[in-house]
Amino acid sequence: MAMICKVFGHKWNGCTCKRCSKRRDEQHDWNGCKCILCGKTRDEQHDWNECACTRCGKEKEQAQHDWNGCTCARCGKRRYTGHKYRRLNNIPVINGYISASKSQPLIVVCTICGREYRLTSPAICPKCYHPCTVDYEGFGQDTSYKKHIKCTNCDYSTSYSVNDSY
Ligand SMILES: [Zn+2]
Ligand SMILES: [Zn+2]
Ligand SMILES: [Zn+2]
Ligand SMILES: [Zn+2]
Ligand SMILES: [Zn+2]
Ligand SMILES: [Zn+2]
Repeated sequence: MAMICKVFGHKWNGCTCKRCSKRRDEQHDWNGCKCILCGKTRDEQHDWNECACTRCGKEKEQAQHDWNGCTCARCGKRRYTGHKYRRLNNIPVINGYISASKSQPLIVVCTICGREYRLTSPAICPKCYHPCTVDYEGFGQDTSYKKHIKCTNCDYSTSYSVNDSY
């Protein structure tokens, strides 16, 4: 607080002190849902487009996002699916399984949202390079079992029969 405000009190312009920029939660200057003086938002008089409020970013209840893969072209919202990955190095991937070491992980990056993964195990989707988990079926019963890869990014799924008889 500026010394002069301490002595004479604040010089309020609506919600904000003109001298020291201190704010109070009253007399905001609302432009729709947002105060033009302090940036505070309220949950009324939003300025909706098809997905969200263009002023404060609040998502519409039945938002019609314009998905470009993982990201909405209109409001920038991201979702968990639709990434478009690119491999940044040539770590071998055999049947979806990553053959990498800790010092040299496989690196994939989404060309749309920039999300990056550094992977040493266990699998990536052979189709879109999204990191995948592996499910084992019949493991522990005999020497043969099945490995399932299911991609949550593009719906690709595959399974391999493995026979570990030594
Ligand atoms: Zn002040
Ligand atoms: Zn304000
Ligand atoms: Zn708003
Ligand atoms: Zn959107
Ligand atoms: Zn993405
Ligand atoms: Zn995939």
